Amino acid sequence: MKINIIDDIPDEGLSLDLTEEGHALTELAGGKLEYSFTSPVAVHLDLTKTDGNVFVSGDIKTGISVPCSRCLNEFVLPFETDFSIFYTMGKEEETEKELKPGDIDVNYLSGPELDTTEMVLAQITLEMPMQPLCKPECKGLCPRCGADLNRGECGCPSEEKVDPRFAKLKGFKVE
Ligand SMILES: [Zn+2]
Ligand SMILES: [Zn+2]
Repeated sequence: MKINIIDDIPDEGLSLDLTEEGHALTELAGGKLEYSFTSPVAVHLDLTKTDGNVFVSGDIKTGISVPCSRCLNEFVLPFETDFSIFYTMGKEEETEKELKPGDIDVNYLSGPELDTTEMVLAQITLEMPMQPLCKPECKGLCPRCGADLNRGECGCPSEEKVDPRFAKLKGFKVE
């Protein structure tokens, strides 16, 4: 949804609970997300404004289906994040640096409209793990035959399973 920061936020602030649909987020990302949503994205926002600036604190909860970075099996990652963003109107170069409170993210709005779908997508993108794991002890795939080692040993000789970065060291002789 779009929030007009001048008209929609009263002086005492605004608390909102809203739901963003996964397909809308995927569309906004150009249909290119490497994951999909397994449940609607529940968002809670607290917005406060001061002189055309808006401080947003919120949280996002959803389920995300993503391939494990080791075994490549899709699994559902329970996704939850808290965030704080400071929005100010105008362009970055025109705005005094002193506006920035502490080390909170500052975003620049070209008009009075704040798009919550964009905000939520940006936060999810920021907080998605780079290498999601289906479980911390995931054994991954055999580099030789591609078998999922979580389902048991594949029978390949064990020296073939050594990470190639370490395999090089095996032929190394110490003088
Ligand atoms: Zn895995
Ligand atoms: Zn194997």
